[in-house]
Amino acid sequence: MNIHEYQAKEILSSYGIPIPRGRVALTSDQVERAAKMMGGRCVVKAQIYAGGRGKAGGVKLVHYPEQAMEYGKELFGRTLVTNQTGPEGLKVRRILVEEAVEIAREFYLSITLDRETSRYILIASAEGGMDIEEVASKSPEKIHTLQIDPFTGLRPYQARKISLALGLSGSVCEDCVELLMNLYRACQEKDCALVEINPLVVTKAGWLMAMDAKITFDDNAVYRHREYPDMMDYSQLDPLEITAGKYDLAYIKLTGSIGCLVNGAGLAMATLDVLKECGGEPANFLDVGGGATREKVAEAFRIILQDHDVKGVFVNIFGGIMRCDVIAHGIIEAAGEVNCTLPIVVRMDGSKVEEGKRLLRESGLNVQVGDNLGDAAARIVKMLG
Ligand code: ADP
Repeated sequence: MNIHEYQAKEILSSYGIPIPRGRVALTSDQVERAAKMMGGRCVVKAQIYAGGRGKAGGVKLVHYPEQAMEYGKELFGRTLVTNQTGPEGLKVRRILVEEAVEIAREFYLSITLDRETSRYILIASAEGGMDIEEVASKSPEKIHTLQIDPFTGLRPYQARKISLALGLSGSVCEDCVELLMNLYRACQEKDCALVEINPLVVTKAGWLMAMDAKITFDDNAVYRHREYPDMMDYSQLDPLEITAGKYDLAYIKLTGSIGCLVNGAGLAMATLDVLKECGGEPANFLDVGGGATREKVAEAFRIILQDHDVKGVFVNIFGGIMRCDVIAHGIIEAAGEVNCTLPIVVRMDGSKVEEGKRLLRESGLNVQVGDNLGDAAARIVKMLG
């Protein structure tokens, strides 16, 4: 689960991490008033669930409140396309107005979950403010990482080592140690999958400050924090992803035209790979889970059909816990409701497979049943060809 920069900064601030003074605005008048409070010269920042806003024109230094208002007017309602949003972009509905800070140096800092070791990993680089992936590929020696032992937690000597590696010294180095310790505490207590400060800066006056902040909460721990659901900005999410969430379906919209309904995340990933290999473009990732009911399958199918980019549907089910006849009933119910005429190719195997295939063949839908994954994937790609 993602939150906005201003919310992430509020959390960091509550852990004693210095952030610039700022105000969130929902209208251009509020932008102007907030700019006045900052003394006129300030930074106006679009709040969307993606980074890369600076390069896309979503972050601007202004000198007067009127200028802030004009820019606010321009930003509100605009769809910002950044290198992290995808071509469809994200609509700006909230703006953060911040004091303009005189920056001397920029760093990269994050704590994230390393799935291989099941531990938090701290990543820091003196090459901040820019694409960390680019730094990682071009000059990996400039990135410092530290795996944090969950039993001992982050130790001050480890935080000091990282601070020194960033080239900090004296009181700024000690401030950085404290900041790292606080960041780790925030990460743990707030159940974060990622906390990223990019850039962390040293101001010209010599203070450390978080100039940007990104927090992703671990979805599996959201139930432990009653306030989290209210922090969500649903306008930043794909409406189909919101519906899928309600039905506990793992759905992610992609850019192609083949709607995919699969059981199991691993099989869903493999299905996307095989479709791609056959020259097809998947419209989504959708995992209905292991023991889905007929209703859940029907809902999944409805979600796929609501995506206007979908020109055909590929169903790939391995019936282990899930019975193939249940899947067939779900598909027939949902497709029948909307008089679906799109081509559907089904690959199914396992429990009650013959019954499932029979139901589909007799359904009157535009459906074909493939013999195996490769054959079925090639068929749907050819049909949409
Ligand atoms: P994004 O990562 O989405 O491009 P950032 O928050 O990192 O957005 O802002 C882009 C750049 O704008 C930062 O790298 C920093 O140099 C500058 N910046 C951001 N906020 C401020 C601020 N309050 N004062 C001065 N400069 C800022």
